[in-house]
Amino acid sequence: MSVLTDLIYGGSNAVAGLTEGAVNDAIAKYGADKEIAFPDTAYFFPTIYAATGVKVKTLGDLPACVGVLKSLITNQEDLGQALNAGLATAVGAEILEGLKYVEGGDPYANESGIGFVPDPIIRSLGVPLVTGDIPGVAVVLGKAENAADVVKVVKDYQSKGIMTFLVGDCIEQCAEGGVKMGLELRVIPLGHDVTSVIHVVTVAIRAALIFGNVQPGNLAGLLDYTKNRVPAFVNTFGAIDAVVVSAGAGAIALGFPVVVDIDLGENQVPGALESVCDHSETVKKSLELRNIKIKTTELPIPVAFAAAFEGEIIRKADMKVEFFSGKNPTAELVLMKDMSEVEDHKITIIGKDIDCGEKDFALATYVEVAGKKMQPDFESVIERKFHAWFNYMEGVMHTGQRNQVRIRVSNAAYDAGLRIRDFAEVLYVMIMNEFDAVVDKCQVTLITDAAEAAKFRDEVAMPRYNARDDRLASMTDESVDRFYTCILCQSFAPAHCCVVTPERLGLCGAVSWLDAKATNELNPNGPCQPIFKEGLLDERTGRYESVNKMVAEATHGAVENVTLYSILEDPMTSCGCFECICGIEPVSNGVIVVNREYKGMTPAGMTFGELASCTGGGVQTPGYMGHGRHFIASKKFASAEGGIQRIVWMPKELKDDVAERLNKTAQELYGIENFTDMVADETVTTDCEELLNWLTEKGHPVLGLEPLM
Ligand code: SF4
Ligand code: ZN
Repeated sequence: MSVLTDLIYGGSNAVAGLTEGAVNDAIAKYGADKEIAFPDTAYFFPTIYAATGVKVKTLGDLPACVGVLKSLITNQEDLGQALNAGLATAVGAEILEGLKYVEGGDPYANESGIGFVPDPIIRSLGVPLVTGDIPGVAVVLGKAENAADVVKVVKDYQSKGIMTFLVGDCIEQCAEGGVKMGLELRVIPLGHDVTSVIHVVTVAIRAALIFGNVQPGNLAGLLDYTKNRVPAFVNTFGAIDAVVVSAGAGAIALGFPVVVDIDLGENQVPGALESVCDHSETVKKSLELRNIKIKTTELPIPVAFAAAFEGEIIRKADMKVEFFSGKNPTAELVLMKDMSEVEDHKITIIGKDIDCGEKDFALATYVEVAGKKMQPDFESVIERKFHAWFNYMEGVMHTGQRNQVRIRVSNAAYDAGLRIRDFAEVLYVMIMNEFDAVVDKCQVTLITDAAEAAKFRDEVAMPRYNARDDRLASMTDESVDRFYTCILCQSFAPAHCCVVTPERLGLCGAVSWLDAKATNELNPNGPCQPIFKEGLLDERTGRYESVNKMVAEATHGAVENVTLYSILEDPMTSCGCFECICGIEPVSNGVIVVNREYKGMTPAGMTFGELASCTGGGVQTPGYMGHGRHFIASKKFASAEGGIQRIVWMPKELKDDVAERLNKTAQELYGIENFTDMVADETVTTDCEELLNWLTEKGHPVLGLEPLM
């Protein structure tokens, strides 16, 4: 037998033995009926569920899985067979990790890793992955002989936006080496045991179930999805034992190439298992193997600039200066101007720079753009990007928009030399990069002088915000001649297509009708195509011939009929990255709306994750529909079923967030005051009978509506 297959089988057999023993011990200790589950997932033990369709719910379900695991280990001299043994190791790792959760609670609470990754986090990664904002997923495993090497590799991935999962002692090596970690920073420590690598594997596997509509038990479909749609790869550091090799074989079976830093000589498998002993080549080789291309933006600023820094939080103690609307006037504005009024790359600073010794500053950020294809509607689309771009600067934190802004600059960024002019450079370069199809010239003015900034805010910015709001409010589905498709998510959900209208934004919450319009203008052959409003078939449900035709084309025939305003009749499909899901609540005859962040139970008897698993992957599931937060207050929300009057329950945080707009809609449509006072939340009840009683007490309008079904 070759050294490689020998090692794989050795590792797989060892894991099989360990797993069998651990399962038997657990059953002896807790009994076969003891329930077992990973936290916050609707996919049971995801690897086992996806590969075999078996739903592990109790310890008693596990011995059969161990049987399947063992059957995958044939000990035959054949690389394909050996890779199957690698899958067996993955199953074993899943069971061993699952057993850590047998007593409830968080077994990783006192670990430096996070362990199991809940479903909602995977859903939240949908959009950044499809936009290429996260260009790939790295799994870094082991302990580097020289800690500085792994630190350098991980920082390199981070600067490229690659999502990096760490397993083993490299976690401490990276922490000591100053790598900033956390989900938002895209470097995620999983755990120390090799088995914890399964927690990134199940992310890929659940992506296939959530976005890809791969059916549980369809192992070939699963492997095809992970290979072709999940741009992941593995780097190991340090010596590798049989268990690591067999886990690596599992990764290869899923289509994830493995790069090791020891010389495997003739045991290398080109494209799947390769040796790179020079760590300065690791990143390059890994990206090549997965064909990941990194868009780099060269910026003339003294700090790093990368999407990975978007989630960085700067606390007061680390802060050098602050621009905060609570203390000083602030405003952010993009204005369209005539070509003759804009001098390209002109940067003007009015007021003091941040090295003057003061701590608090005003800041008006005023960007004037001109271009033959520029439209006033794109001003807000560009302006909203300020938030991301400022956050991409390492050591800068930005929140808010328009005249309500807070920007912090860290001591470290200041010491590195960051000054006010760098903010202008970032805006200039990024606008010319991303909006070059519509912006030909761009000039930036930054005002830190408080009196001047206040004057700008009140005389220039506020009137413009108000005019835009008036335009948005007057923009209805009736007032435009076209809607747009969005198929960005097809790289993960090949059968999904969003239809974006003025009153219904994309379900991810990130694509409004104006965004779709701008995307189409910037990239005419891109993901957003116009749908001209033609062939109205049914006004109540929002059924159009042209919409059906475009959706059928965009989904390659997977979806042929779709309505814009119904959750029961041919509802719009969901990819998986929706901000909220609505579902019917039969007892009250209403609908509940649940946001991704809510972890608790709902009156439908399901959590967000369980509700979310009812739909997705481009499938239409009447009664369940994913949508954006903003859609809740839309006059078109489930309007075919009676509109927002159907909403009976929402998590409190979501309800508070949308209350103002939702109440306004209820007032305008039905003359109801303070509608949200009649909508229950988890502090009222999560029981459907109690909910009905409460709604009756409140006189909720749903009780007067026709039965839903
Ligand atoms: Fe994906 Fe729809 Fe959002 Fe487009 S609008 S990014 S298809 S969820
Ligand atoms: Zn999506």
